[in-house]
Amino acid sequence: AISIRKMSKFYGDFLALDRISIDIARGEKIVVLGPSGSGKSTFIRTLNRIEPHDSGVLMIDGAIVDETTGLTELRGAVGMVFQNYNLFPHLTVLENCTLAPRLVRRAHREATEALARQYLAQVGILEQAEKFPIALSGGQQQRVAIARALCMAPDVILFDEPTAALDPEAIKDVIGIIDTLAERGITIICVTHEMGFARHIADRVLFMDRGCLIETAPPDRFFTAPGTERAKQFLAQLI
Ligand code: ATP
Ligand code: MG
Repeated sequence: AISIRKMSKFYGDFLALDRISIDIARGEKIVVLGPSGSGKSTFIRTLNRIEPHDSGVLMIDGAIVDETTGLTELRGAVGMVFQNYNLFPHLTVLENCTLAPRLVRRAHREATEALARQYLAQVGILEQAEKFPIALSGGQQQRVAIARALCMAPDVILFDEPTAALDPEAIKDVIGIIDTLAERGITIICVTHEMGFARHIADRVLFMDRGCLIETAPPDRFFTAPGTERAKQFLAQLI
């Protein structure tokens, strides 16, 4: 479980997160919505300390996350999939998936490769295992990024607009894969602009504006009867 109390973050003197408080249960699917610049990426990046917060309390599974937290361990438990895949270009698909488990977990080569192949099969690209990322389409690269995250056996996966760089067909693929993960009970926290997907996958929607978490609601309520004027405006602007 993730427990956040009055968490704030500054970039210089700009307040990017303003006293965020929220509890997220194990296995919950959270979708973070809000206008551009509202702090969605900053928020999810604080959860594995890619962006350290400045005040307030962040607790993951009962342990306070702060400057004393071991980052390798934290990032093993809280994985992240970015918009632009962020694969290592000089490593094959398989090596992309096995690098972190081998370095961080000191797992054996055979064991990590077997696991990586299992996840690559799961996301439907096992036959690409020996290729380099540049030889793959965007959708395929994103599937590798998801398989790579899974190879660390995280408790939580953070997704920051995982389909933003993809064409419509690949969007469907990647959404299908995230949906399968969701059913398997992993905690998912996802920033997305795909409203159909958001509505389908979310247990709760978090709506952010100007660094504040201004509304938390189940998707049915959020999309039909948002509780704040700002959320109404946001929804009215969607195509
Ligand atoms: P988008 O939907 O466009 O991705 P977002 O909701 O993810 O937006 P963030 O990227 O979290 O927004 O940014 C929140 C605010 O913090 C923005 O005003 C942004 O300009 C600012 N910001 C983000 N990263 C930095 C940084 N590294 N240094 C300074 N300011 C930053
Ligand atoms: Mg963002």
